[in-house]
Amino acid sequence: MARDCIFCKIVEREIPAEIVYETEDVLAFTDANPQAPVHILVIPKAHIPDFNSIEQEQLYLLSSVGAAIQELANKFSLADGYRVVNNCGENGGQTVAHIHFHLLGGRKLGWPPG
Ligand code: 5GP
Ligand code: ZN
Repeated sequence: MARDCIFCKIVEREIPAEIVYETEDVLAFTDANPQAPVHILVIPKAHIPDFNSIEQEQLYLLSSVGAAIQELANKFSLADGYRVVNNCGENGGQTVAHIHFHLLGGRKLGWPPG
């Protein structure tokens, strides 16, 4: 874990979050500033700074994230559709340097993003 990372602290239960899914590899919790009726952050527990930093031997974690998203979409009744977003780096709008996937749903989402 990275000492100064808020998402690592959520993994370690050092700061509170509403946790909605957990496996050995993956944690999901509701976003503190939700942009849709359902706004969940899905993260590998390992501290990976961003999408571009995923090492070859960590790629399996993307499968774990995918399984989490499918289960959460079912759990939160998103049969009408949803969006998965990964913001990578400054131009991507990433503000927390621990890779995370936004799962957004519960309303019709606009496109394109800003
Ligand atoms: P990014 O802009 O990096 O793609 O997304 C970071 C997200 O993390 C934002 O949607 C923000 O609301 C959320 N966030 C930031 N700090 C916390 C926190 O301490 N707890 C939770 N649950 N979400 C957070
Ligand atoms: Zn971290």
